[in-house]
Amino acid sequence: MSQAPPFGTICAMSPAMPTAAVAPALSEELLRRFDTPGPRYTSYPTADRFVEAFGPVEALGALQQRAQGATVGGRGLLSLYVHIPFCESVCYYCACNKVITRHHERATEYLDALEREVGLVRSAMGGSAQPVTQLHFGGGSPTFLSDAEIDRVMASLRGAFRLAPGAELSIEVDPRTVTPQRLEHLRQAGFNRISFGVQDFDPKVQQAVHRVQSFEMVRELMKSARSLGFESINADLIYGLPRQTADSFERTVAQIGELRPDRIALYAYAHLPQRFKPQRRIVSAELPTAADRVAMLGGAIAGFLARGYSYIGMDHFALPGDALAVAKRQGRLHRNFQGYSTQPDCDIIGLGVSAIGRVGPAYMQNAKTLPEYYDALRQGQLPVVRGIALTRDDLLRRAVIMALMCQGRVEFESIELAHLIDFRKVFASELQQLEPLVEGGLVEIEPGAIQVTATGWYVVRAIAMVFDRYLREDKLRERFSRII
Ligand code: SF4
Repeated sequence: MSQAPPFGTICAMSPAMPTAAVAPALSEELLRRFDTPGPRYTSYPTADRFVEAFGPVEALGALQQRAQGATVGGRGLLSLYVHIPFCESVCYYCACNKVITRHHERATEYLDALEREVGLVRSAMGGSAQPVTQLHFGGGSPTFLSDAEIDRVMASLRGAFRLAPGAELSIEVDPRTVTPQRLEHLRQAGFNRISFGVQDFDPKVQQAVHRVQSFEMVRELMKSARSLGFESINADLIYGLPRQTADSFERTVAQIGELRPDRIALYAYAHLPQRFKPQRRIVSAELPTAADRVAMLGGAIAGFLARGYSYIGMDHFALPGDALAVAKRQGRLHRNFQGYSTQPDCDIIGLGVSAIGRVGPAYMQNAKTLPEYYDALRQGQLPVVRGIALTRDDLLRRAVIMALMCQGRVEFESIELAHLIDFRKVFASELQQLEPLVEGGLVEIEPGAIQVTATGWYVVRAIAMVFDRYLREDKLRERFSRII
């Protein structure tokens, strides 16, 4: 594993990235102007733009075309995402697609269906074992599965695909569901990256969100993971939760700093109780104010930078020796449904209920409920229910938005060469729309490039949104989370 390296220099970062010396401030006024609801751009077009006209037939066609070599993204690399939806108890902030149950026997029917899906995908791809360089288990809680069930899934995947030597095999872990022995089993099963859902260490906050797990427990597990040789250990945190204060969150940041995971994902809590039922159990009056949230974000960024972490982008930090930080410095960072990635833009096969995939110039999503998912597979059909075939305009805008989200910079010439356009002509109106952000000091427009400033990283989504064609006439922005 990439052992936690010593405090490293951050001077190799892009000069516009926040550094320990310059933790940027976002004024109340800028916040009011630019903290609007917006997508996180793990894809463009975003998943809410997928349409039902793209279904199993179209998905099958995309897989078959890939098998024939017609549309192979990312130099032929393939990534797998496996969604395990079950959790034993609900966290009140949750916005994931999950099924709350204590009945572990429900996993058997699910794994039967998953195996059928793996078989269908394999035969659609020509029946030969495709090389896979990245595999991610997410959820829900993948560790709801027993060790034997995890082995069963891995055996099915290894039977259908060829896991390349050195492939990244990662898994999300709910600390409450594992022991050091279980981590050892995951390591033996081949996982080399692990992500712990921490969120906050303050007991009052944990009670308010119905997710109680002690600092000591997480410390013990991270220590075990490290000694077991996991190459990268991630911790997820959330700010904006009920009962959090700038001071309490600073303590959590300090505790995480002490554990020294290789990567930290810091998410903003999106309170959308009308969309996500568990959130109705959160007491709105206990939520921090917008100003508190800015203080928490600013404090966390400054805290992690001061502890030697590099700022990767919107919501990620990594130790300078971690592959993500190295990719950032070398301009090789990408973004996919799991967030930032070192993997080149490659095809992704999404397996399991609600999983999203990307094959060639198309995105596709599986059925969101278990009955629908099971039903499709019983009929021998891919369980895809929605998707989108990208147009030339989508591909062009995706390139611009991903450059902003990953590098904080768009070089006109590279977009012009790749898409055969005149950037200033095609995006004349967008460049004009950027003016208020330029005035706010969030972005700079150079003769041949757009550069996100250090402060602009706080609202990089707002900058990307300018290039999102689908948002133009959209009157329903409130369905997205706020940017900060
Ligand atoms: S946050 Fe994670 S563990 Fe909690 S209910 Fe949602 S999916 Fe399950």
